[in-house]
Amino acid sequence: MKIICIGKNYLKHIKELNGKDIPKTPVFFLKPETAKLLNNAPFFYPDFSKEIHYETELVLKINKTGKYIEKAFAHRYYDEITLGIDFTARDLQRQSKNKGLPWEIAKAFDSSAPFGKFIEKNNFPDINNLNFRLLKNGIEVQKGNTGDMIFDTDTIVSYVSKFFTLKTGDLIYTGTPEGVGEVAIGDRLEAFLEGEKMLDFEIK
Ligand code: MG
Repeated sequence: MKIICIGKNYLKHIKELNGKDIPKTPVFFLKPETAKLLNNAPFFYPDFSKEIHYETELVLKINKTGKYIEKAFAHRYYDEITLGIDFTARDLQRQSKNKGLPWEIAKAFDSSAPFGKFIEKNNFPDINNLNFRLLKNGIEVQKGNTGDMIFDTDTIVSYVSKFFTLKTGDLIYTGTPEGVGEVAIGDRLEAFLEGEKMLDFEIK
């Protein structure tokens, strides 16, 4: 399986990272299977970074093989959703960007992709109007609504499938809203999708 992550999909997040350009097509990158972190297992702070950021994102699970999926049919390719954290070594990302180098080491490292239990998207009236939030040590630090995405979920699935064949079990992280920030050893992260707790784990 592969994990596809969308970047720059919320305007206010682009601004908080001092970005100026609003993408005209979805921006994405990959994380390997070894990035998965399951069952609210603790995240162990890696020794190669001093600035690990959380990014709370809606995650789609692909349910069948698809390539060149038309947007009108994209909704048939994912039934289940959850929340995930796109952990980012912001210091390494900054260094890589400044040198014009790829930034996989900042994004695709082991356990950089925790995600919660999947639930049927049909439990919700509109996937394009989902509220989600992240608490750090009980205090709300991120809040988003999928309606603020620059590219909605069907557009993402369609666009990504032009480049990569999507397969059953692939995950798509759909981008973070504003409010990203650092974690530290001892922190507890809890993520909620429309009031339902999807993630609850510690940084160790
Ligand atoms: Mg992200």
